[in-house]
Amino acid sequence: MTEGRLAGRVALVTGGGSGIGRAVVDRYVAEGARVGVLERDAERAAALVRDHGDRVAVEVGDVRTPAAHTASVARTLDVHGRLDVYVGNAGVYDYSARFEDLDADRLTAGFAELFETNVLGYLLGVRAALPALRHSGGTVILTVSSSGLYAGGGGALYVASKHAVVGLIRQLAHELAPDVRVNGVAPGATRTALGGLSALGTATRRLEPGGLARHIPLGFVSDPADHAGLYTLLADPRDSRFMTGAVLPSDGGLEVRGT
Ligand code: NAD
Repeated sequence: MTEGRLAGRVALVTGGGSGIGRAVVDRYVAEGARVGVLERDAERAAALVRDHGDRVAVEVGDVRTPAAHTASVARTLDVHGRLDVYVGNAGVYDYSARFEDLDADRLTAGFAELFETNVLGYLLGVRAALPALRHSGGTVILTVSSSGLYAGGGGALYVASKHAVVGLIRQLAHELAPDVRVNGVAPGATRTALGGLSALGTATRRLEPGGLARHIPLGFVSDPADHAGLYTLLADPRDSRFMTGAVLPSDGGLEVRGT
C-alpha cells in the first residue's frame, strides 16, 4: 500500500460528522492520518465509527462547552497518542436573517447562539488543543466562509461571525508563530446539511443552494469533497510550512464576479 500524504499524523476535526467536516475526516483518513472528532450529533458520530473504525476517536459534545473540547483532545491523545492538526469547523448559519427584521431580543439571542458556536467554539478548541500542538509543532486550520470575505452570503450575524474568524486566524497566527501555523479555508456555496439557529426558529432548516450556481463564475455549487484537498495541503508542512495567517478561498471565483 502506498503511504498517504498524512501518514503518521493525527488530526482533530470539530463538526466532523457531516458536510465539509465529514469530507475532511474522510480525506484525512484516506491520506493515512488518524483522526479525533468532536460532534454534537450522536447518530453522525456513530456513522463515523461504523465507516472508519479505529482510525477515528469520536467524542459527542457541544463546541460551546469548554469541557467538550478538553474531553475530545484528551480522547484523541489517549487513542492516537499525539495531535498535529486541529481543524475548527463546526458552525451554524443565520439563514440570511435580515438585520431590520430582528428586534433587540432576537438579535441578542441569535448573537449568543451563533457567535458561541462559530467563534467561541473555535477559541475554546484551539485553547484546549494548544499544548499538544506546541508539543508536536502542529498546525491549526479554521473553516471560514466566503462570508468571511464578502457581504451578501448570509445575514449580519453570520457574516460578522465569519469576518471575526478571519481576525482570529490573523491574531492567532501572530501570537503562536513560530511554533504553530494558523490558516483558514473559505468555502463558498456547498451542498451540506448546515443548520440554522434555535433562537431564530431556523435550527432544522437546510440550505437549498441550487439557484446559486448562476451567481458563481465557475457555474456550479460545490460538494464538501471539493474543499478537502486544501485542508490536506494546510495540514502537510511539506506543502505549506511557509504559510500562516492565510485564508484560502474555495468559492468558484467570487472575487471575479464582475459588475
Ligand atoms: P453541516 O451542518 O453539514 O456540518 C456541521 C457539523 O457541525 C454537523 O455535523 C453538526 O452536527 C456539527 N455542529 C453544529 N453545531 C455544533 C456544536 N455546537 N457542537 C458540536 N458540533 C456541532 O454544515 P457544513 O456546511 O459542513 O458546515 C461546516 C462549516 O462550513 C461551518 O463552519 C460553516 O459555517 C462553513 N461553511 C459552510 C458553507 C456551505 O455552503 N455549506 C459555506 C462556507 C462555509
